[in-house]
Amino acid sequence: MPENATRSDVLVVGAGFAGLYAIYKLRKDGHNVLALEAGDGVGGVWYWNCYPGARCDIESLQYSYTFDPELVKEWDWTERYAQQPEILSYARHVARRHDLERHIRFNTRVSSARFDAGANEWHVVTVQDELFACRYLVMATGCLSEGQVPDLPGLHDFKGPIYHTGAWPRGKVDLNGKRVAIIGTGSSGIQTISTVAKEDVQLTVFQRTPNFSVPMRNRPMTQDVLSDWRAKHQAHVRDLYASKSGQLFDINAVPAAEMTAEQRKAALEERWAFGGPSFTRTFTDLLTDETANSYAADFARDKIREIVKDPQTAADLCPTDHPLGTKRICVDLEYFQTYNRPNVKLVNLRREPLERIAENAVVTTAGSYPADVLILATGYDAVTGALLKIDIRGLGGDSLHDAWQEGPRTYLGLMSAGFPNLFMITGPGSPSIAVNVILAIEQHVDWVARCLRDLKACGATRIEAEKTAQDKWVEAVREEADKTLFPKANSFYVGANIPGKPRVFLLYLGGLAAYGEICTRVRDNGYRGFVIE
Ligand code: FAD
Repeated sequence: MPENATRSDVLVVGAGFAGLYAIYKLRKDGHNVLALEAGDGVGGVWYWNCYPGARCDIESLQYSYTFDPELVKEWDWTERYAQQPEILSYARHVARRHDLERHIRFNTRVSSARFDAGANEWHVVTVQDELFACRYLVMATGCLSEGQVPDLPGLHDFKGPIYHTGAWPRGKVDLNGKRVAIIGTGSSGIQTISTVAKEDVQLTVFQRTPNFSVPMRNRPMTQDVLSDWRAKHQAHVRDLYASKSGQLFDINAVPAAEMTAEQRKAALEERWAFGGPSFTRTFTDLLTDETANSYAADFARDKIREIVKDPQTAADLCPTDHPLGTKRICVDLEYFQTYNRPNVKLVNLRREPLERIAENAVVTTAGSYPADVLILATGYDAVTGALLKIDIRGLGGDSLHDAWQEGPRTYLGLMSAGFPNLFMITGPGSPSIAVNVILAIEQHVDWVARCLRDLKACGATRIEAEKTAQDKWVEAVREEADKTLFPKANSFYVGANIPGKPRVFLLYLGGLAAYGEICTRVRDNGYRGFVIE
């Protein structure tokens, strides 16, 4: 590595919630930390996803950092589910409060990283060909940060603007008076459709796979709710970390079969009225038993048919190809009601497949739909996308891409054998986007920080996952997934949305609490499964 490399003890890649907390925590521990961020500001997902209607689908009070009690006291969320601009302001506030920005190089995208075994350091190169060297490399590159743009025939022929929800232009996009075509009806699509439909537009929605969506029941935050949350914050944090999903909702401990039909219906109605993702926990076995799941799925389909006036549109919106909750459940603001508006049309691509994009239209086998603007709500190369976009080379120059040819292989989702001193925050094989991600981030960063303290205390400078421990963990991740209905869905959890991506369940489904205990046990047992030198 040439002498002109910029050196730090720790190099963090990414300045979303993971990167920000990593900078804070590792600096507090006395490390010299530098972060590189592709965007020109902090916030990650909440910086990039400024599409109309973007907001969190975990309640704002819970989708918040827990590490700083002062932050909890001084930040007033204004809604039960905050909108993207507010979450971005929160990330900026955290960065300012802890003076983090001066440790971040913005507009700096990492293109490759190579481990130099002799020097025991990582050499990192950016797209601008800048060079960095560090002992420890922390990948905080995000699980939903690599947008997926499908290879649609004729896409480049389209004359109007094309917007991907995950790279929405900053500033106002004026859609008024336009014919807008949107492709995709996952979480981002549903949020965009419900919002854009209210503008003076002709909106055509192109749907390949209908998704389950439950009402958000959003409402303004009240001072009473805020005060109560603050008063009980310590207990809430304890309960959040002791939970399976990192959320404080009540999980019904009773399996569906032990309830009468009336009790099941009443429980589903109650959760539908309450709003939010707790609907997927109406029965203890909703996500593990097909019959239990079918009660909830039938209920949700009945709701769609009740809400949507046109019977054909309602039928087209009813998901039938996956159990409810096995794709990320969407949480909406009157999404299905949107299809009763005269300016909104649904095109079912299962019935009339998309043929091509023309200069000013989307063409299916049944007709041509004029469009001035095209919105791609086509999702992300989840969990591994951003990591594998970087050419990462470990011991012997072996590439991460090759090592993960048949699916990602990690130990605890934290490290991968053959890649010493490279940590992944919310990496594949950890709970990550299966839970409240901010808590998953804090848990990972805390583990890494403690690990670096322990290495220092024993005079070690290198840690690497053992291959046998990693193989066992990969198997444990698969086993946990197989206990559930999740593998049955063609979701981004199994890479099904990316052509050629190996079909492997990407997340640990044993829950945040159980996973945290495993990581703590590993650490307390002298970092069992890791080699330390
Ligand atoms: P990100 O926020 O994705 O940040 C990663 C950063 O790394 C980005 O800024 C990116 O520019 C940068 N980066 C990536 N590659 C490089 C590179 N090569 N070089 C330099 N920089 C790079 N989770 C929840 O728990 N609850 C929710 O309600 C929720 N809502 C979501 C809504 C949307 C629209 C999306 C897309 C995701 C949502 N998520 C939600 C998941 C979300 O990913 C996490 O909650 C969280 O924001 C992730 O933070 P992060 O820092 O790990 O990653």
